[in-house]
Amino acid sequence: MEGELYVYDQAVERLREREYPMLKGQTYLDHAGTTLYAKSTIERFSADMMANLYGNPHSASISSQLSTRRVEDIRLRLLSLFNADPEVFDVVFVANATAGIKMVMEAFRDQEERFWYGYHKDAHTSLVGVREAANEHRCFASDREVQEWIDDSERPLTPGLFAYPAQSNMNGRRLPLDWSRRIRESKQNVVYTLLDAASLVSTAPLDLACPEGAPDFTVLSLYKMFGFPDLGALVLRKDAGRVFDKRRYFGGGTVEMVVCLKEQWHARKAESLHERLEDGTLPIHSIIALDAAMTVQEQLFGSFEKISTHTAFLAAKLYEGLSALRHTNTTPVCEIYKDPTSTYGDSKSQGPIVAFNIRNHLGGWVSNAELEKISAVKNFHLRTGGLCNPGGVAASLGLAPWEMKENFSAGQRCGSDNDIIRAKPTGMIRVSLGAMSTLKDVSLFIDFMREFFVQEAPPTPFSPVISLYHEPPTRRLLRVESLSIYPIKSCAAWHVPPGKAWEVRREGLAWDREWCLVHQGTGAALSQKRYPKMALIRPCIDLDQGVLRIRLAGGLQTATKAAEICVPLSADPRLFLDGDMYKTVSTKVCGDTIQAKTYKSKDISDFFTQALGVACHLARFPAVGNGAGTASIRHSKPHLQKPQISGKMHIPGAFPEAPRVSTCAVVSKPILLSNESPILTISRSSLNRLNELIKAEGGKAAQAEVFRANIVVAENLDCPPGAEQPYAEDEWRYLQIGDQYFEMLGPCRRCQMVCIDQHTAERDQEPFVTLSKTRRFDGKVFFGEHTSHLPMSNVSSPTAQNPTISVGDPVWAFEDGEAEQDTRLQGLVD
Ligand SMILES: *Cc1c(COP(=O)(O)O)cnc(C)c1O
Repeated sequence: MEGELYVYDQAVERLREREYPMLKGQTYLDHAGTTLYAKSTIERFSADMMANLYGNPHSASISSQLSTRRVEDIRLRLLSLFNADPEVFDVVFVANATAGIKMVMEAFRDQEERFWYGYHKDAHTSLVGVREAANEHRCFASDREVQEWIDDSERPLTPGLFAYPAQSNMNGRRLPLDWSRRIRESKQNVVYTLLDAASLVSTAPLDLACPEGAPDFTVLSLYKMFGFPDLGALVLRKDAGRVFDKRRYFGGGTVEMVVCLKEQWHARKAESLHERLEDGTLPIHSIIALDAAMTVQEQLFGSFEKISTHTAFLAAKLYEGLSALRHTNTTPVCEIYKDPTSTYGDSKSQGPIVAFNIRNHLGGWVSNAELEKISAVKNFHLRTGGLCNPGGVAASLGLAPWEMKENFSAGQRCGSDNDIIRAKPTGMIRVSLGAMSTLKDVSLFIDFMREFFVQEAPPTPFSPVISLYHEPPTRRLLRVESLSIYPIKSCAAWHVPPGKAWEVRREGLAWDREWCLVHQGTGAALSQKRYPKMALIRPCIDLDQGVLRIRLAGGLQTATKAAEICVPLSADPRLFLDGDMYKTVSTKVCGDTIQAKTYKSKDISDFFTQALGVACHLARFPAVGNGAGTASIRHSKPHLQKPQISGKMHIPGAFPEAPRVSTCAVVSKPILLSNESPILTISRSSLNRLNELIKAEGGKAAQAEVFRANIVVAENLDCPPGAEQPYAEDEWRYLQIGDQYFEMLGPCRRCQMVCIDQHTAERDQEPFVTLSKTRRFDGKVFFGEHTSHLPMSNVSSPTAQNPTISVGDPVWAFEDGEAEQDTRLQGLVD
């Protein structure tokens, strides 16, 4: 038996090369989201479309007749896949499983009487929502509660609907399929049953051969079974069709005759349920594609029984592998949310889905967001978060309703970074398998988990890299190696020429992120994460001409009509030009809505649109006060405020927990400004150290620009070889650069955006992989320091009124406790 399973697995591995070319180099583990379509399906569908003339069904023409015939044949074929007798069952094509659920919900809502609704806690969000239409509803918290309710012969007085998933989309647990029969018997047709089979049928057969035992309504998503087409189905027992008798709506396709003018009358189609329920034109081409998908699926995999056996085998290996992962202190790495009643490998009780969270070696939770970032870099595709399963997730994580509400008000949303609240995870990681998954996918994922999440070192809060600089802190003389600004958010850096004194403002270096590109449709600011080619847009500040000049690099050079474009640096060019060159629009930058001014010029918009291949405008952040003197200034660039790092931010476990702020009484006032992080500083020594590690593993060294640093600080040129102090900045509290003072606000948390090569716009896995192995603390990856300028008022010297810094300036770093002793810091006030 084992042997056969391996043989089948190898066969899948071989057909994958040919049939799933999109999987090359990728590990796809989100089949519960959608599975993948085979190349042959698309080819077969395409050939069918080319060879035949398909019209809108229900007319007399040959092309229309052909469509009708095909749709009816495919309907029958789908029923037979579930052994459903067409005398007893009908199929209604819908957009997706949710649309099928809504169709059933509407029928109950249209009843004259009230209706009762019961659902199991493992229900998908789409099932839970039905309760909003019911007059009375109940969430069953366990199978036992359902059994007891079934055994109780009391029936509701009003019609009822009981809904549950055949398989939990959260952890793949399979629920009993005999509830429909038992409810029908016990509740004597007062309570109907709705089975959500969307998750189950993607990897398992569903047998409706016995009408007495079948649910009244079964919904499923065909894309979850075949990867394509995007279509859902509602399979109904014709007996239960009477609930649709009270249906109020009619549309084209579901009505025979309609009288509108002097009288209001219509005659509904009466023949079949699907004719009564399929309003409007059917998705005929998708239905035709379903035929191809079913044929190809059968050719490739045999049957859903085979798929079920294969995926159960893989899931057992996956579960065993994840359960066996231990930190070197023997504590488990994965907390797996398995139902106690189910067994991996047993396809009756368990589908091929594993839901879990990761713990560190001290038992603390690792953020899902970090796993997501590393997976993105390593080409693993999985799902994290609330998984559209509110009851299952809350029960598994032990989240009480008040906690969920608290978390919501604390800013937790589906897909947010901040997923561990009050030391509890708010979501989980889901890995799911499908027909074309193989043992190789499973072992790649387990190796990945071992590589990044198993802590091999004995329990010590110091990573080997960090512990290197345990010499007594000495104040070292450093220098500014380079100054960079990013005039357009997420586009290339522009380097301040050596010797040029560059203005430092409260909101950062002059002209840094003064502009951004916004999507013409959504108004959201574009970022390199989604549009890596932005790295090839090269803005340049031309102070002589008073313009921002934008040129393109690499492959973009031929993309636009104009070779370059210029906009005036002056914020209010109305003084020099006719008319207003901006229009004000609501823009979303890093989640905050602000009013930005977009350039009206079609030439400007065309330039960027052609360069990136996405319809966008250039926008400018609204003018800000000129810094000095205005006490409560909050600059208008939310992307610079975003890190919101307080002066007390430490890397937990790796940095001394010294009460930094209170020991620095002298400079406590300027910290008021520090909820903004206008400047990012990195250290050349740290970058060199990082690159040594990357190169030692054969990886590609990182450029300073990928970190979007403004200031690169380097050891002095006379620093003896080997005396560099990488990551000394972790301890820095203040910097003096030339005549100016800066406060270090805390380390900068990193994501996979650092992997975009700023010269080619190509993605790599470095430096994120090495960073996440050497600079990950408490589940977060750090590199570089948020920094803000400390302005000096009361001082009327030019250096206080018009602060500047230059490339080559000397830099002194102050660590904790050094600052208050230093008389030079005495001049700092708010
Ligand atoms: C995916 C899924 C749904 C929702 O399916 P849609 O096609 O997105 O409407 C509902 N229930 C379960 C169990 C699912 O897995």
